Amino acid sequence: MRFSKLFTPTTKDAPKDALLPSHIFLIRGGFISQTGSGLYNFLPLGKIVLDKIRAVVKEEMDEAGAQEISMGVVNPAELWQQSGRYDVYGKELLRFKDRKENEFVLGPTHEEVVTDIVRNRINSYKQLPLHLYQINTKFRDEARPRFGLLRGREFIMKDGYSFHASTEDLKREFDLMEQTYTKIFTRLGLKFRAVAADSGAIGGSGSKEFMVLAKNGEDDILICDKCLYAANIEAAKREKKIAAVEPPKADFAKFHTPIPASIENLCKFFNIDAFYTVKAVIKKAIYKDRSEIIVFFVRGCDSLQEVKAQNASGALELVEANDEDVKNAGLVGGFCGPIGLENVKFFIDNELKEEKNLICGANEQDYHYVGVSMFNFKPERYADLVEVKEGDLCPCCGGRLSLTKGIEVGHIFQLGQKYSSAMNAAFLDQNGKSQPFFMGCYGIGVSRLVAVMIEANHDDKGCIWNKQTAPYLLDIIISNVKNEAQSEFATKLYEELKAQKKEVILDDRNERFGFKMNVCELIGFPYALMVGIEFDEGKVELVNRATLEKESVSIYELDDRLKEIFG
Ligand code: ATP
Ligand code: MG
Repeated sequence: MRFSKLFTPTTKDAPKDALLPSHIFLIRGGFISQTGSGLYNFLPLGKIVLDKIRAVVKEEMDEAGAQEISMGVVNPAELWQQSGRYDVYGKELLRFKDRKENEFVLGPTHEEVVTDIVRNRINSYKQLPLHLYQINTKFRDEARPRFGLLRGREFIMKDGYSFHASTEDLKREFDLMEQTYTKIFTRLGLKFRAVAADSGAIGGSGSKEFMVLAKNGEDDILICDKCLYAANIEAAKREKKIAAVEPPKADFAKFHTPIPASIENLCKFFNIDAFYTVKAVIKKAIYKDRSEIIVFFVRGCDSLQEVKAQNASGALELVEANDEDVKNAGLVGGFCGPIGLENVKFFIDNELKEEKNLICGANEQDYHYVGVSMFNFKPERYADLVEVKEGDLCPCCGGRLSLTKGIEVGHIFQLGQKYSSAMNAAFLDQNGKSQPFFMGCYGIGVSRLVAVMIEANHDDKGCIWNKQTAPYLLDIIISNVKNEAQSEFATKLYEELKAQKKEVILDDRNERFGFKMNVCELIGFPYALMVGIEFDEGKVELVNRATLEKESVSIYELDDRLKEIFG
C-alpha cells in the first residue's frame, strides 16, 4: 500500500470524550470513525487489525473442533419469549416492530437462536458433542457506552455455543475452551489471567472470565504473585486471616462502653487490635416483592464485599439502611452484635466461625460484649462475606495477592440445561430417554480486543502494534520525495517486498519528513525505514517503534535485517 492512496484520516486532536489512550489513538490514527453514541466504523487500517485478530480467533476455534456459522443480527422476539429472557433482559435489549407489527430484537447474544437452530436437527447422543460459533455483530443498548471500542453499543463478538450429552462432556469442552482462549490471548501477545468470575447468582463455579491486565481496566482483580490464582474482587478468596497480635483474654461479660460508635474508638477504648472486634454492616435487601433489613458481621479489620453479601442474601439489590430502617428493625445502630440478636436476618463471615476472644455489640446503647466465642450459630448463618485486599494471602499457595485492574476480553460459561429445557431442545440419550442438551457458551470481545491491544501497548506518541496485529509491519518513509535517488530506491524496495507478500507500506507523500515520522509513530507500525540524508552514503535508518531506537544500516546489509524483521 502507498500512503498517497491510503484512506487514513489522521488528526492532531482527539474528540473531547476520548479519555483513554486506545480511544484517542484509534480516532487520531484514522483506524475508526464514530457515527453515534457507541457506534463505530472500521476504516482501512482498523479493518486490517480487526481481521488479523479475527483470524487468530478463527484459527484456534477451528483447531479446537468448533464450526463457524453466521447468525442473523435481527432475531424474532418469539425466541426470547420462549427462553423467558424477553422480560428480564432489561434495556440493553433493543426491541422493535416490523411493518406487520411483529416484534423483533437486535441480538445482544445468541443462545436462543443457536438453540433454535439445533433443536429438532440434532436428535441423538450419537450426534453430540457439537460446537457452533460465529464472529459477528452484536447490539447492546449499553447504559453508558464509553471508551471507544471498549464499550460500544454495536460491537463484534466471537460467540460459541456447545451442546453435550452429559455434564462431564460439557466440562471437558469448558476446559478445552480455557486452553483455546489461553492460546488465542498468548498469540496476541497479551498479559492476561483466567479469573474465577462472580458465579454466585448463577450457581456453581462454571464461569471464568479472561482479563487482560491493564491500568485502565474497569474490573478489580486479585492476582497471586506465586501461582496462577486470579479472581474478580467479587469472587476472590484468601487464606484465612490470622492474628498478628495476642488476643485480649477476658471472660464473657457485658461491658459499659460509652463511646461514639466506631471500630476505631472501640479499639482505642479496649486497647486491642481491630482483628478481635466484630463489625456489623446493616443493609436493606430488596427482593422482587418486598424488602428486609439484614445484618452482615465481619471482623473489624475487614470490609464487606457487597456482591458476596448480595449472593448470600439472595436479594436483587442491597442498599444502605437509613437510621429509621435500623430503628424499625429493632436494632441499635453502632452497638449491633450477633449474640442474642432476634427477629432480624443476619449472616456471619466464614472466617469468624468458632473464633474466640472477640468483642461485639450487645444490642444495647453503650454496651459491648467481651470474651465472645462464636459457637452455637447455625451453619446457614455463615457465608463468605469479606472483600479480599492487597497483601492478603493466596487461597491456593499462600503467596501474596495484589490488586490490579483488568479488562474483560473473554468469558466462558457452563450453562447446563437452562436454555435447552426452556426451549424444548432435547436429544435421546443412550437409554432412549429424552433429555435437554447440556450447553456451554463462550464469548470473546473481538472489536474490544483492537482497543485492548493499545491499552496494553502504547506510549505518549501513539499505538505500538506487535507483529500479530500490526496493520503493516514496515513503513518505508521517503524523506524527500523530490530526491530522485531516495524515491527510486525506496519504491524499488517497496515493490520487491510487496511482490514477496510482505506487510509493507510506502510513505510516498509530498509532506515534511517530521510530519510523516509523527504519523508513523501515531499509527504505530512496528518498524520504520527512513530513506533520507544518509542515503548518499549508502545508508538508511531503521527505527524500532517499541523502543524508538534508531539504527543506521548499510543498504548492502539491509536484506539480512529485513529478513529478521519479517521473520
Ligand atoms: P461486560 O461486563 O464488560 O459488560 P459482559 O459480561 O456483558 O461484559 P459477555 O456477555 O460475557 O460480556 O460478552 C462476551 C465478551 O464480549 C466480553 O468478554 C467482552 O469482551 C465483550 N463485550 C461485552 N460487552 C461489550 C461492549 N459493550 N462493547 C465491546 N465488547 C463487549
Ligand atoms: Mg455487559
